[in-house]
Amino acid sequence: MTNPLLADWDTPFGLPPFDQITDADFSPAVDAALAESRENIAAIADNPDAPTFENTIEALELADETLGRVLGAFYGVAGADSNPAREALQREFAPKLSAYSSEVSENKALFARVETLWAARDTLDLTDEQQRVLMLSRRTFVRSGALLEGDDAVALRNVKSRLSVLGTEFTQNLLADEREWFMPLAAGDMDGLPDFVIATAKAAGKDKGADGPVVTLSRSLIVPFLQFSERRDLRQKAYEAWAARGANGGKTDNRALAAETLKLREQRAGLLGYETFADFKLETEMAGTPAAVRDLLMKVWKPAKAAAEADAEVLKRMLHADGWDGPLEPWDWRFYSEKRRKELHDLDEAELKPYLQLDRMIEASFACANRLFNLDFAPIEGPIYHPDVRLWEVTRNGEHIAVFIGDYFARGSKRSGAWCSAMRSQQRLSGDVRPHVVNVCNFAKPAEGKPALLSYDDARTLFHEFGHALHQMLSDVTYESISGTSVARDFVELPSQLYEHWLEVPEVLAEFATHSETGEPMPKDLLDRMLAATTYDMGFQTVEYVASALVDLEFHNGPAPADPMQKQAEILEDIGMPHAIRMRHATPHFAHVFAGDGYSSGYYSYMWSEVMDADAFAAFEEADDPFDADTAKRLEKTVLSSGGSVDAAELYTAFRGRLPGVDALLKGRGLDQAA
Ligand SMILES: [Zn+2]
Repeated sequence: MTNPLLADWDTPFGLPPFDQITDADFSPAVDAALAESRENIAAIADNPDAPTFENTIEALELADETLGRVLGAFYGVAGADSNPAREALQREFAPKLSAYSSEVSENKALFARVETLWAARDTLDLTDEQQRVLMLSRRTFVRSGALLEGDDAVALRNVKSRLSVLGTEFTQNLLADEREWFMPLAAGDMDGLPDFVIATAKAAGKDKGADGPVVTLSRSLIVPFLQFSERRDLRQKAYEAWAARGANGGKTDNRALAAETLKLREQRAGLLGYETFADFKLETEMAGTPAAVRDLLMKVWKPAKAAAEADAEVLKRMLHADGWDGPLEPWDWRFYSEKRRKELHDLDEAELKPYLQLDRMIEASFACANRLFNLDFAPIEGPIYHPDVRLWEVTRNGEHIAVFIGDYFARGSKRSGAWCSAMRSQQRLSGDVRPHVVNVCNFAKPAEGKPALLSYDDARTLFHEFGHALHQMLSDVTYESISGTSVARDFVELPSQLYEHWLEVPEVLAEFATHSETGEPMPKDLLDRMLAATTYDMGFQTVEYVASALVDLEFHNGPAPADPMQKQAEILEDIGMPHAIRMRHATPHFAHVFAGDGYSSGYYSYMWSEVMDADAFAAFEEADDPFDADTAKRLEKTVLSSGGSVDAAELYTAFRGRLPGVDALLKGRGLDQAA
């Protein structure tokens, strides 16, 4: 029998035939697809004909067609509906795939063809999109070391392999420190803790084999403990343990690993011809240069710090009113801030929840896409990988645009968090291929016959992931390598974070936030309180984040510091870090930066995207209509349909007439009065 993954998919819209695929099919299909990819690569590299854009770059675009199809189906189920067999397959595939990708990037004959085309690019009569794909293809080769020879090539390979070992050790040390520490809570230690915190602490105690509730260093337990515990001594003890992760001495200490990592990154950048590692990393980003990142962070830092300092004064008065002398400490902030939040906003999740029904929020996200982009959504039947999965056909004026796949409920087999992926991406090189886009969330599944209810955060997540989905669905390019969300890391969150703004449009909530039992719309007063609460304590949140982003940037923007902890202290001193706030992630547990390469000198990008989404939504506000047709059309034409076919800064400028400014973000975070 033929492997269903490798056969033609005679299914609605060519969706993967999940009803026929078994776990035993994946491994042989990946092996066969990899063999096909290798044959394709060899045929391109060894082609006796002179290189052309078509026989080299376009052929490369198509080389992994089968592999992409098989992996699209596999990673779809592996992330959202795993089991031991699928976990074993992931472990089996990771080294196979990374070996293949190294082979491609180290293929000298292949790179020589790309280099020939690059040198002749002005005589090839290429479209703008083709020029861009050629540039990106060559850049990927060069950044992985294709221009290096001899000792330098060996040195780069050694540096990269040592870096990957260090990243894994860093993660494991951090996990060990987080696992190791816990603090038992005796009967008298629970003052102030709400039931849900006690329940979480009890579950954690069971997990640790303790005979009562405990506090652990898991964010979902320690943060509420710091918010609610009236025992200042226990808050201090827990906070200090949390802050010391990765810096406890002994075998799991991460400080030496961080220093070695920074040194090796400096070497890597030097071998590739960059002045600093930050220059190397930022070359592919919208921000472009360390100076641009620093400039943005400092513009946000000043007003955020002013707001945090004003808040600190209020919290200190509350501390003193409780009979404590001396300064407000980091273990006091969340506690007094929570007390103040209750006084100011008095927002009860339980009061809110009946108004945020999953099905109504899905309808809301579709209705906004209809008003903005004229998209229609109709439920369809087709092969699915789990009974909770729902399918819709997306059309415009009756024309097929995409299949949208929603997988909303939490289950044991799903990894945590929420994400958007494409099982198939839009492209036109092998016909008019329309995308299959998946949104996966982890919302609590209701009891049989009850409506699924969301928290406000959940509803935002739903809109966020749907914004990524629109970026995929509205994609309109020729080449898959630049399709949909294949854009710079500091640009990819723009469509998703931007879409969250439509959830906050009062008329959207008025129509779709209806009570699950009475059908009544959310009362105006509750709506106002809910929206006001979203900007609470932004000074604190912005300060702890920006401090981390600045330290990350400065670590990589110059010679590697011999002692990162000392360098960190100097940077914080320099920017005047408030006493009662610490970095969101200090160096010994800054996994974004040290567990791998992903966010090194890139932690700023969350803020970068937020600056853009606030500034982009302001375009609708300036038009006096959140659904302004011209602005929506321009957004689709410039940003949402273009994928990575044009440099991100150019796309943004085409949409907004200029690069993003920070004013809208400061206003959105309520920081504009503070400066
Ligand atoms: Zn996102």
